[in-house]
Amino acid sequence: SGTKKSGGSGFVGRELTRLLGNNGHEVTLISRKSGPGRITWAQLESDGLPPCEGVVNLSGENLMNPMRWWNESYKKDLFSSRIDTTKTLAQAIAASPDPPRSWVLVTGVACYKPSLTAQYTEDSEWTPFDLLSRLVKDWETAALLPENMAQTTKQVVIRPGAVLGRDGGAMKQMRLPFWLGLGGTLGSGRQPFPWIHVSDLAGVIAHALEPGSSDSSPYAPASHPVPQVLNGVAPAHNTNYEFTKELGRALWRPTVFPIPAFVMNALLGSERAVVLTQGQRVSPKRTLETGYQYQYPDLTTALREIVGS
Ligand code: NDP
Repeated sequence: SGTKKSGGSGFVGRELTRLLGNNGHEVTLISRKSGPGRITWAQLESDGLPPCEGVVNLSGENLMNPMRWWNESYKKDLFSSRIDTTKTLAQAIAASPDPPRSWVLVTGVACYKPSLTAQYTEDSEWTPFDLLSRLVKDWETAALLPENMAQTTKQVVIRPGAVLGRDGGAMKQMRLPFWLGLGGTLGSGRQPFPWIHVSDLAGVIAHALEPGSSDSSPYAPASHPVPQVLNGVAPAHNTNYEFTKELGRALWRPTVFPIPAFVMNALLGSERAVVLTQGQRVSPKRTLETGYQYQYPDLTTALREIVGS
């Protein structure tokens, strides 16, 4: 069976492609670049969505691109690379004579307001309060299908925390400073650090793609026009301090130099440094209710896999 995936060439997409391939699915990537097993955005817009069972959107200009200065053009790219691709896919799904059975959008936990005490689940109410939460709002809104498609296509939004894995994401940027013994807590270190192992994020996406896998949830009957939301975070709750110490231990390196929030703000721009200097305690309540079983539910097992040889 076929699955169409945009952003499939990236860090999460490669893991998901592997997993779906192992499960006997054929995957087509939607990409800015043409190539074997791919279609381009222009082809999608001109020819429509090829027949497939499920669609996933993982596209987006990287938020932590170290090569890009935090300015208006970067912010514009962060928004358009997510919202325009999502709109294009939602329109292609709606226009398809044979629509896919599932449509999965991957956004982020930035919609929940950072707090040292609040505990969020998928049921938590939220309204945008800063740039990244506005981004999540616009992104998730762009994914909505017409109400008359509630019966044909299951809509899921997955909100991951920091995605941890060997060959990409946050770990790629942290490995060298930590290895050099320069790793340290960020800001106060007391802020929650929501995270998920990349294999589990791929697992949650694959689980969400299965038609009907959400039917057991009392909150999301199949006929509901509102997308089902799943928090893509590990069930363990950790602070930035705990993460820093665990990573230092896993690498056998000291982590004695805290990095103050103002340094992070100066380096990254405060609007995006919030994802590191602040954080939110997020539980994967519905993800667990759908029956998903985590491979890496706690930091020790996740970091052992990532750092181990
Ligand atoms: P990547 O940075 O690896 O990028 C994914 C893909 O997006 C790329 O391979 C590329 O595909 C496409 N892309 C990049 N820039 C643009 C652009 N300007 N316009 C259109 N497409 C673009 O992402 P990840 O795999 O790390 O993340 C996947 C999704 O999950 C993203 O939307 C991200 O925001 C979200 N997420 C990631 C987290 C993380 O820690 N990694 C945390 C929370 C959410 P191509 O070159 O084939 O066009």
